[in-house]
Amino acid sequence: MKKCQLSSAMMLSLFIAAAISAYSQTFDPLGFDVTKLTADAVVVSGHQYNVNVLAVRTDDGIILVDTGISPAWASAVRDTLQRIFATDRFHYVINTHYHWDHVQGNQVFPDAIIVAQERCRKAMERQNNQRRGQRPASQSGQSEGDKGDGTRLPPPPSPILTNGKAGFHLCVPTLTVADRMILTSGKTTVEIVAYGYGHSDNDLIVYFTQSGILATGDLFFNHVLPIIKPWGQSHIERSLTVLGEFLEEERTITAVVPGHNECMTREDLEQHYTYLAGLSKGVSRIAAAGEEWESAREEFRLESFAPQLTLWDVRSNNGNSLHEGNVRNLWRVFTGEENGQR
Ligand SMILES: [Zn+2]
Repeated sequence: MKKCQLSSAMMLSLFIAAAISAYSQTFDPLGFDVTKLTADAVVVSGHQYNVNVLAVRTDDGIILVDTGISPAWASAVRDTLQRIFATDRFHYVINTHYHWDHVQGNQVFPDAIIVAQERCRKAMERQNNQRRGQRPASQSGQSEGDKGDGTRLPPPPSPILTNGKAGFHLCVPTLTVADRMILTSGKTTVEIVAYGYGHSDNDLIVYFTQSGILATGDLFFNHVLPIIKPWGQSHIERSLTVLGEFLEEERTITAVVPGHNECMTREDLEQHYTYLAGLSKGVSRIAAAGEEWESAREEFRLESFAPQLTLWDVRSNNGNSLHEGNVRNLWRVFTGEENGQR
């Protein structure tokens, strides 16, 4: 079994080492972990941050979901894929969202059409413009290395690249998805749907119709509760509608590929959905009934609300419970109140 590399960057610090993958896994000579999902679909990951790149071979070239942390990293992935699939044609690159660890290898696939949400393109451009000329800084949410004695280590260099840094040049999506889109490549069809604001404001869900492989970016991780941010009620509703649609019985889901770490099963994703839907509905009900924050907090303690998921409640660096943060954020959404205070 592959051992998870835990990252201290961004929300990745919330991951836990997780379960045994149900899929065959080999160690690539270039140092990547390659998980074979079907004869034409693999997940390549490894090195830093355990970012996943899903690659599906079609008659018209390879379709990639995300391109990883840097041009150098993506070049090695490209070499690996060309060897595995015996083709050097890449048809589409789909970016699940704008974060650096999923898009900074885009330039390595100039032959492919890059697909993402319009907000993803704008966010990439904004980030590039903001960072240009600034000294490296740690990313928000990133641990700065508290030594535990009150002193702090200097922040690590930013992994965010801007034009000209480490051979990077900004390569933004040219085909953008507003709501949903069907792509065709050879005999393969791919359904791409904009999720409500979730991990970011431009997450995509990507579904390969024939193989039943679903890629979810950083929305869901294996054996970790989903993170609910206080984006607003309409985004929660949209997210549940989109996710519910993919989990309809007639849809086959053979594998769920997250943005990092091990693949999940349909049943894993159903647990995420049940948690999100139940918690949203429950907190909404209590808020509408005019109950106090303390009632919501008490009623939705994870031990009673979803005891089977207590191991999925990961603590952040400062010891906060992910679940309690979710309840608090939902309370903010449904009451407009900050931090559970009336
Ligand atoms: Zn990520």
